Amino acid sequence: MRIEQDMKLDFKDVLLRPKRSTLTSRSEVDISREFVFLHSKRKYHGIPIIAANMDATGTFQMARALAKHQLSVALHKHYGDQELLDFFAEQPESPPMFYSMGITAPDYEKFSRVMKGARGTIQNVCVDVANGYTKAFINFIVKLRTAHPELTIMAGNVVTGEMTEQLILDGVDIVKVGIGPGSVCTTRRMSGVGYPQLSAIIECADAAHGLHGLICADGGCTSPGDLAKAFGAGADFVMLGGMLAGHDECGMDVVEENGVRKMRFYGMSSREAMNKYAGGVADYRASEGKEVLLECRGPVENTLQDILGGVRSACTYVGARRLKELSKRTTFIRVSQQLNEVFGSVG
Ligand code: 5GP
Repeated sequence: MRIEQDMKLDFKDVLLRPKRSTLTSRSEVDISREFVFLHSKRKYHGIPIIAANMDATGTFQMARALAKHQLSVALHKHYGDQELLDFFAEQPESPPMFYSMGITAPDYEKFSRVMKGARGTIQNVCVDVANGYTKAFINFIVKLRTAHPELTIMAGNVVTGEMTEQLILDGVDIVKVGIGPGSVCTTRRMSGVGYPQLSAIIECADAAHGLHGLICADGGCTSPGDLAKAFGAGADFVMLGGMLAGHDECGMDVVEENGVRKMRFYGMSSREAMNKYAGGVADYRASEGKEVLLECRGPVENTLQDILGGVRSACTYVGARRLKELSKRTTFIRVSQQLNEVFGSVG
């Protein structure tokens, strides 16, 4: 047994320190990014925020709404072959939309079928497992990269530098970072496993950038300020679940509670999701997600404006004219637990 004594931080443990700036208005800030992906060599231009591949947020409707603002969506895994083919056939190249899959044999068979029918319209995939530390996951990535040198591969999740490096060396373009921070995730409670998300981003971004790879910070953002902190910490992309849930584009059931319209949102490893898609929770495992009821929030458009406005505002405060400069201009200050409780990042 060993204890790491280094302080590890979450979004709520820090604030961004304001810096001198020549910017006079938020409208001067450009929050889009351009990348050339390491392995696929494809060019990216867009606002690097991605809706999570959960069945409430990784929807076709969400993709259409987010595309208007140059944001991307990782589609959930439960669409049928033909629906996916129709979607990708009408989808412009930019911003990229991601086909999502796990690493089981049926996942790969479905992917191979859809790829064949898609005739090159699928260019980005998200390989998503709860634990990116297994040999089976690495083997899958190597197989996928060997078969598809042209695809942009986002894959995870991991939380440490050495695993980020391994994934990038094995063919991943964007490493997805985050174990346990999700709003409807119970992994930390159920298994005791996890890593404070801000430190995970800092450490994985450092490892990825050293090899010209990229990372996507996945989970734990509860306010626009958290996205600013994630980008400030070095995230190239940020993935959002809960912040995009509860909107019209989620297509989830609406229930009324004390006269208030609410929408279901549950983790993809929750009992609710497993009942819906896997015929129940297998007897050797426990669910690692929960369900919440969120007040209906209307069209996602309004929330997007808050998110993009918040990130622009952060750039203005630290003097970053472009999102690309935000991490270079970031100094985090640690805040005390007490301050946290009063002004916590959820506020
Ligand atoms: P959020 O933005 O809601 O904080 O986090 C979204 C992320 O939570 C997703 O992209 C995914 O990585 C993670 N997630 C979604 N469902 C579950 C679940 O049931 N269990 C766990 N452990 N993580 C989940």
